[in-house]
Amino acid sequence: MPELPEVETVARDLRRAHLPGQTFTGVHLFWARTVACPDETSFRARLTGQTVETVTRRGKFLRLDLSGAETLLIHLRMTGRLYLAPASEAAMPHLRLSFDLGDGRQLRFHDMRKFGRVYLTADPDSILGKLGPEPLDETFRVDDLQNLLAGRKMMLKPLLLDQRFIAGIGNIYADEALFLAGLHPQRHANTLSPDEGAALFHALRRVLTLALENRGTTLDDYRTVTGKPGENQDSLLVFRQTGQPCPRCGRPIERLVVGGRGTHICPHCQPPGEGG
Ligand SMILES: [Zn+2]
Repeated sequence: MPELPEVETVARDLRRAHLPGQTFTGVHLFWARTVACPDETSFRARLTGQTVETVTRRGKFLRLDLSGAETLLIHLRMTGRLYLAPASEAAMPHLRLSFDLGDGRQLRFHDMRKFGRVYLTADPDSILGKLGPEPLDETFRVDDLQNLLAGRKMMLKPLLLDQRFIAGIGNIYADEALFLAGLHPQRHANTLSPDEGAALFHALRRVLTLALENRGTTLDDYRTVTGKPGENQDSLLVFRQTGQPCPRCGRPIERLVVGGRGTHICPHCQPPGEGG
């Protein structure tokens, strides 16, 4: 599933491909449930004629602010994929939604599993307002994370996946950051020392920054706007590396299930501690 680095890469690629400045001249919906709100008729009517002003990211949402003071939010979920193509180019299978652009291209949304959702709203905060802080934001500091952790009893792995706690982290980067910080995923957040909280802060920054530089991780379906896979899969330390030697101590990486999610750790470098 695309996480912060993958969605940010898509946003940057769409800006680079000059989506901002383009006007929607038509809307084609092929799978009704892809549009979460409003209804299909309003969606088409309210979008047509609007110009994309900015393309940004918040958490795992892509955010397109439009000239008519409305906002288009796109959540890729499991297999959603956006790209730009000349309108004359044949579409790939699983096309759910496409937008005609004023310059003759189309913005296309493919989604094999059909979990992706698109929202058109005049009040984006009604959806984005529940999200926690952005881990790469300059205003988010070590003590912010330490304070957030101190107030929560939950285990670290499900807490990092909770978008209301911190935005943009999914299974891949939660496992990578916990390994880098030397923390067991079943540690309870409020048992962490200040140093452990700081280690987690810096580990999150490091794994997300590296993944951004590598244009995201492609293990399954994720592709950039240009159709290419990301390159961060070659840099993963523990995620889906079960049985491979730990990059730090050489003992085999193990897989366990935490909060219902497959989780990858080095049992030696990530001891259970107080919470285990
Ligand atoms: Zn190890």
